Amino acid sequence: TAANVAAAPEDPLFGLMKAYREDPSDKKVDLGIGAYRDNNAKPWILPVVKKADDAIHNDPSLNHEYLSIGGLADFTSAAQKLIVGADSPAIREKRICSLQTISGTGAVHLGGLFLSKFHPQKPSIYLSNPTWANHKQIFTNVGLKLADYPYFSPTTKGLDFDGMLQALQAAPTGSVILLHACAHNPTGVDPTQDQWKQIASVMREHNHFPFFDTAYQGFASGDLVRDSWAIRYFVEQGFELCVAQSFAKNFGLYGERTGAFHFVSAPGADASVANANIASQLAILQRSEISNPPAYGARIASKVLNDPALFAQWEEDLRTMSGRIQEMRRGLRERLIAKGTPGNWDHITSQIGMFSFTGLNEKQVMTLRSKWHVYMTKNGRISMAGLNTNNIDYFAEAIDSVVRE
Ligand code: PMP
Repeated sequence: TAANVAAAPEDPLFGLMKAYREDPSDKKVDLGIGAYRDNNAKPWILPVVKKADDAIHNDPSLNHEYLSIGGLADFTSAAQKLIVGADSPAIREKRICSLQTISGTGAVHLGGLFLSKFHPQKPSIYLSNPTWANHKQIFTNVGLKLADYPYFSPTTKGLDFDGMLQALQAAPTGSVILLHACAHNPTGVDPTQDQWKQIASVMREHNHFPFFDTAYQGFASGDLVRDSWAIRYFVEQGFELCVAQSFAKNFGLYGERTGAFHFVSAPGADASVANANIASQLAILQRSEISNPPAYGARIASKVLNDPALFAQWEEDLRTMSGRIQEMRRGLRERLIAKGTPGNWDHITSQIGMFSFTGLNEKQVMTLRSKWHVYMTKNGRISMAGLNTNNIDYFAEAIDSVVRE
């Protein structure tokens, strides 16, 4: 009976947001949020999104009919080009299929569900340690076994590259490896291009299947091509792979749930036939889960992605967001150095994307919360977007104090 259902634990991130909201202090700082904030700590509607939105509202040809199962075709084809490059042989040879999904989460889920149904061995999926917490829940829910590979080195606050490679070498042949395409969440630590090449080479040797999660393209470095470099390299190397793509951060379309799932088949005589078969199976899974995806966010993204002038403005908006975040990184590091705060703070500027893994321990995090009204996750992750010119001095002072305690 229903009485047998025990209460589930609260989602840690949503619990943190609630504690922040309930704190009456006017000094409080929210560094938990996984969403961009402007210099006034307010959500930011990208000017290009506003423009596309206005155009959509004034377009009499649009209505509220269903999209097709795979979503808005103009959106998925543009999303595809953005990921692999418009001139990619994968597109030319018709060996990439794409479905619009419920943002990145829905894409990760659809990919996981597909692998759990169609992978011949019910494989383990290898996740970086640490990773985005929802990966574990999503892949467990679709019946995949979880495994992990070392990723973050607490001593260097950088990549544990040797540990990662060794784990990939030791994983059973044909394992599924989840890779963050750029701006790793939660650490902000990415492999260099040379390290990606070595990762690809080990994965090729062991016939592993790359499952890319890309939630920060263009948002990380401000350069859409650079932030998709790893995926494009793996595609060039002829891997069969899949990609879960989110447009939440780079368009600021969080609540509109705009994303896509792509499956790229390896080159070969029958690649386009095999890929069409995969597309047909994905469509059946999608049909049973959501019937068809929501239209609004995809219409906005599609308008921008398919119009060269709007696309150029989008790139400008991406540079505004990534530029402000990089400024906050430099500002925080400089302030800690100026104060002589014990420890090395180079990682604040070498890590990229929305998050920084500060290296603060749980006790320090809890002191920041109780004494300084500064909110971050227990693992010491801060959202750089929560910092601004009004609170950065206060935050640096708070860190300096807890580190010296
Ligand atoms: N993957 C990673 C690594 C993420 O950080 C996020 C956003 N927090 C997502 C996927 C998906 O988010 P959304 O469903 O909002 O697109």
